[in-house]
Amino acid sequence: MTTTPWHERAAVLRLDGRAFIDGKRVDAASSARFDCLSSVDGRKLAEVARCGEAEVDAAVAAARAAFEDRRWAGKAPAERKKVLVRFADLMLEHRDELALLETLDMGKPIRYSRGVDVQLAQNCIRWYGEAIDKLYDQVAPSPEDSLALITREPVGVVAAVIPWNYPMLMAAWKIGPALAAGNSLVLKPSEKAPLSSLRLAELALEAGVPPGVFNVLPGYGDEAGRALGLHMDVDCIAFTGSTRVGKQIVQMAGQSNLKRAWTELGGKSANIVCADCPDLDAAVSAAIGAIYFNQGESCNAPSRLFVEASIKDAFLDKALALVPRFAPGDPLNEDTVMGAIVDAVQMKTVLGYIASGKEEGARLLAGGTQARIDSGGLYVEPTLFDGVDGGMRIAREEIFGPVLSVLSFTDLDEAVRQANATPYGLAAAVWTADMSRAIRTARALRAGTVHVNQYDNDDITVPFGGYKQSGNGRDKSLHAFDKYTELKTTWIQV
Ligand code: NAD
Repeated sequence: MTTTPWHERAAVLRLDGRAFIDGKRVDAASSARFDCLSSVDGRKLAEVARCGEAEVDAAVAAARAAFEDRRWAGKAPAERKKVLVRFADLMLEHRDELALLETLDMGKPIRYSRGVDVQLAQNCIRWYGEAIDKLYDQVAPSPEDSLALITREPVGVVAAVIPWNYPMLMAAWKIGPALAAGNSLVLKPSEKAPLSSLRLAELALEAGVPPGVFNVLPGYGDEAGRALGLHMDVDCIAFTGSTRVGKQIVQMAGQSNLKRAWTELGGKSANIVCADCPDLDAAVSAAIGAIYFNQGESCNAPSRLFVEASIKDAFLDKALALVPRFAPGDPLNEDTVMGAIVDAVQMKTVLGYIASGKEEGARLLAGGTQARIDSGGLYVEPTLFDGVDGGMRIAREEIFGPVLSVLSFTDLDEAVRQANATPYGLAAAVWTADMSRAIRTARALRAGTVHVNQYDNDDITVPFGGYKQSGNGRDKSLHAFDKYTELKTTWIQV
């Protein structure tokens, strides 16, 4: 193994797995802990507090007290802005440390942890901080003898439950708008990648977010997550994760206090390449880059590729030439572009789908096996199946790994019908030089984001979320404030 400066920094990194409640690092009341393993090489990184009902009660009580005494909600928006901008600055000051935590915890290449995840996460916090003192409320068209005000107020105590694939960024998508709007927050990171969220809470405190306003509870989904979902004093739960658990979250809200439940869930996104695609090289590069980025562990990964039959061979030749560039490597090496799968459970799932693709008759053209077994980590080759039929499991179910399913079509309407024949509706793309065709297709695709002649554009200024069972509500952009604010109408007699 080649040792890089990142290995040396990793060896001396301070790791603290204690929860963060009311501005302090604390163990679980029961002292229960679980082992946090590195995806890079399987070694134990830290013991992490295994939070459950007791810690959820304590964190929600701290968040409620902070909300009631207005120590944060009562600050002028310009004051909240200053603190959040300082928080974002601190994230940049600690950029290498945060990037290392992310890479060690969930296996993504350090070049992306540092260049993409920390960068986007701090930008998200900064953007919502910058936005909050520029938003105006409304005066309704009122009769002369009265005045009707329409104002936005924070919902109160927000719980956020997030996944492991972009731990820091998913946290930031909740923290930014929830805190900017004046709420108190209890964040439960995934048990598979809790470390960056815990460190963010310390940096937020240092930046001036008052104790109790931002709490982090590491723990398992059916313990800490469930306790948050069922809690009677949580006003809103913002969930990002699988569709299976998202459905449970909505049920828990209904079983308890009807807390607002927002869900950002799974996907099986379709990428449609027509024969008149204006730039085949760009289409190939986007299709391959987007499915293998983050080891295929992206909710919006274009995992179903529909290529018009007349260009399929040319497309596949170019695609197969690119695949080896994504061979998994040591995530702590700056040249690596594909890292480790998060854990053994996820790798078993991915390899299981690869086996099912073979059994159901798809043609395996690349990858298909585990890699870097001696590393102690869990790595899977970038995998490409051709000859996929819409009925196969690899075409229907979210794999959440580096597996691309290629289907072909001769009739665009039929391709769109198949693209929409899924319970999911997160993202989609169409490639064609005919703009009318592009617009018609974009309108017909049932997805929260549709790309035309590209796949990877993204920005904090645009909403992100799904149609159908990919969830409700939207993260990012000013629309995210809809999740974390209540609209109040005030009638005043004049
Ligand atoms: P998951 O649903 O297994 O877990 C997500 C979170 O929910 C974790 O914190 C987990 O501990 C918690 N949880 C699990 N069971 C729970 C329960 N019974 N009650 C309360 N909480 C519970 O998902 P995952 O494997 O962490 O993440 C992968 C999924 O997330 C994929 O489906 C992916 O598409 C989706 N995702 C969606 C978006 C989006 O914005 N739409 C973004 C990233 C990931």
